[in-house]
Amino acid sequence: MSDSFDLLVLGAGSGGIAMAIRAARHGARVALVEARALGGTCVNVGCVPKKAMWLAAELAQAQRVAQAVGFALQPGALRWDEFIARRSAYIDNIHASYRQRCAELGIELVSGHGRFSAPHRVVVGGRELQAPHVLIATGAQARREAMAGGALGIDSDGFFALRACPRRIAIVGSGYIAVELGGVLNALGAQVTLVARSERLLRHFDHEITAELAQALQQHGITLAFSRRLSRVERAADGYALHMAQGPALGGFDELLWATGRVPNTRDCGLETTGIALDARGCIDIDAWQNTNVAGHYAVGDVTDRVELTPVAIAAARRLADRLFGGQATARLDYSNIPTVVFAHPPVATVGLTEQQARSAHGDAVRVYRTRFRPMLTALAGGSERTFMKLVCVGAEERIVGIHLLGVAADEILQGFAVALRMGARKADFDATVAIHPTSAEELVLM
Ligand code: NDP
Repeated sequence: MSDSFDLLVLGAGSGGIAMAIRAARHGARVALVEARALGGTCVNVGCVPKKAMWLAAELAQAQRVAQAVGFALQPGALRWDEFIARRSAYIDNIHASYRQRCAELGIELVSGHGRFSAPHRVVVGGRELQAPHVLIATGAQARREAMAGGALGIDSDGFFALRACPRRIAIVGSGYIAVELGGVLNALGAQVTLVARSERLLRHFDHEITAELAQALQQHGITLAFSRRLSRVERAADGYALHMAQGPALGGFDELLWATGRVPNTRDCGLETTGIALDARGCIDIDAWQNTNVAGHYAVGDVTDRVELTPVAIAAARRLADRLFGGQATARLDYSNIPTVVFAHPPVATVGLTEQQARSAHGDAVRVYRTRFRPMLTALAGGSERTFMKLVCVGAEERIVGIHLLGVAADEILQGFAVALRMGARKADFDATVAIHPTSAEELVLM
């Protein structure tokens, strides 16, 4: 016996839930299969609890700034248990709201690990589900190094299980997760060392922004160990020791966190029974319409090799649902000019081409505008941290093709400017916009 639906969704993370809800709104009969908590990485061990920790870290820093400008207070340490109870309650509310929406829309939540038995057929527990349309949205998981000691320490999932701030921590990697979690732990009192194999942070971001970021992190007391190739890790009497292929080891860490990228969850779900093709990294191969090579089977989110961001998975899933069930034959996600924020302290926000990308595509037609300044509160507190903003423009009409920000509130400033960039704004349009004074954002229209 098999249960028939219009759509089967494997994975109730950001992409899977978005697809299920949008398809059900269009009238589809949907089954949503998930073995773990609703919401996937983003809600449970990603964006949401990370942002909560980032906000706590911002408050830790704000206490010190408040003291510096004249408030009579003694900065104190975070009571982790109390804060984590609040973080968990917030996440519980998201779970409840998902459950309610699914119930209202008649989406059947099927709890358990789904495994294909054939194309269009998925077995969960003892039950077989089938549908003409199947979405694979099973996400990704943290990747560890295959080296001696590679299983020691924690990854980002382990970070969210911490119940106290480590004293000294080594974080391997220099991408989003390394920079974000390093910043949080530093602000909450840990001595943080970032161990990177490359010679800069956030290798794919604009180089000037990441150089400024590196300076800011160092000013906050984070140690940056660049160009280090790990050979093995061991747990010594005085803590973790990180041995390098060349040069001295780093040691004495009471915690070790791996932030060396993620691998797609494509194993152990019976994909081999479907003929769905994977790429060299093991991601599901898709075309511009989220189609796999097997008709009626689609993929969105981190299980594909597209941009690994929650809003991207959601946007791709909604458009796919509109195309399959909403009569919108041309609906698909345009993956260009996706804005993104790294929640460092201060945050980095970026959309469009880096200067390096613009110069290799447009050569001498590129013109760059930049500004550096101390934001007002930093100046009042006698701090030295600067905000850095950069506009990358192309051609005689100076069309803006890249916006790169580092500084307080950059995370909130970028969204509206990303709309302008998508609409094809020119530098002259920015110049013609009256500033909002006094803000940091105004500097973008005053360069
Ligand atoms: P990233 O791809 O951002 O960074 C991976 C890091 O691991 C890089 O610094 C990379 O170095 C390093 N690395 C990879 N292999 C090795 C190795 N063998 N030895 C040493 N270092 C290694 O991945 P993350 O895990 O940080 O995050 C995963 C994805 O999740 C991100 O790409 C992002 O899309 C998403 N994310 C988004 C967030 C947000 O929107 N704010 C927050 C967190 C994650 P190298 O640079 O040399 O390749």
